[in-house]
Amino acid sequence: MELEAYRPQSKLVTRVTRVERPRFPAFDAHNHLSEPFGGGWDHKPLPQLLDLLDQAGIAHYVDLDGGWGEPLLNAHLDYFKQPAPERFMVFGGVDWSQWPEKGELFPEWAAGRLRVQKERGAEGLKIWKGLGLQARDQQDQLVDVEDARLDPIWETAGELGLPVLIHVADPVAFFDPVDEANERWEELGQHPDWTFTSPPFPAFLHIMAGLAALVERHPQTTFIGAHVGCYAENLAWVGALLERCPNFYVDISARIGELGRQPYTARRFFLKYADRILFGSDMGPDLEAYRIIYRFLETDDEYFNYSPAPIPMQGRWHIHGLYLPEDVLEKVYFRNAERILWKHG
Ligand SMILES: [Zn+2]
Repeated sequence: MELEAYRPQSKLVTRVTRVERPRFPAFDAHNHLSEPFGGGWDHKPLPQLLDLLDQAGIAHYVDLDGGWGEPLLNAHLDYFKQPAPERFMVFGGVDWSQWPEKGELFPEWAAGRLRVQKERGAEGLKIWKGLGLQARDQQDQLVDVEDARLDPIWETAGELGLPVLIHVADPVAFFDPVDEANERWEELGQHPDWTFTSPPFPAFLHIMAGLAALVERHPQTTFIGAHVGCYAENLAWVGALLERCPNFYVDISARIGELGRQPYTARRFFLKYADRILFGSDMGPDLEAYRIIYRFLETDDEYFNYSPAPIPMQGRWHIHGLYLPEDVLEKVYFRNAERILWKHG
């Protein structure tokens, strides 16, 4: 038998709790509605989506697929936000591809686009991982996450009250050689374009140092570090940044596979930073994916698959529930996002 065909079935007899709906109506602070991450709901009937969210117990949904220019943002605002304003928030973006053409005027131009996006209805700014990995300036130089030329963008977001949901780097193993020691070997085999082996790409910790410097330098701007502050593998590192920067928050999207295999450390992290953690899925409005996260946050179930797929995509490990107390669940599911994101009170 090839190792890839191996499908060990756990013989543990332990509790299996089915959590259909979250303990509190949830605010999904990190998700998508277009392809490839959001299930292409911009081409499906809205009532069907609203039913699905009702069924999942999702009260509010942040759609990060406003794109980098106004056409996509406008389309999402018209399709989701306008008919269901209490349900959705749509985030805008920065079009890094314009830098070579706009030259040194780019940062001010991009900051100006934020004003236009906010006026049109954008309620936040999504920064995709291209910053630090791909975005290049007019000299064709890779731009650092903390590049001071970009300060007008972060200052303007702060001034406009637009929270910045920022994803830089990727799982640590994506920066390692793709060999027998790589814990994401299978996932990288399926998505070779997610490989950022360093060199030639910048080192993972270089990008993370840039994120920390950026957040520290702009205390008036609210930053939400996607995927547990972009470093779910090292909660001590994320905790230290949360300690230093009261303007920093994290979402838990797409990282219960990391959190749930360090359940003691993760539980302590949730208890300590209960005011700074936002619920999020990043799996589109997928009922089963939501229910696994609810089970993870609420129960003390042991050793279960973190994914709806029989072979979890990120790696073949299992997770343990955190059985978080009620007050922490309420903050993580809803209160923190309500305070930080939802400006209508
Ligand atoms: Zn995402």
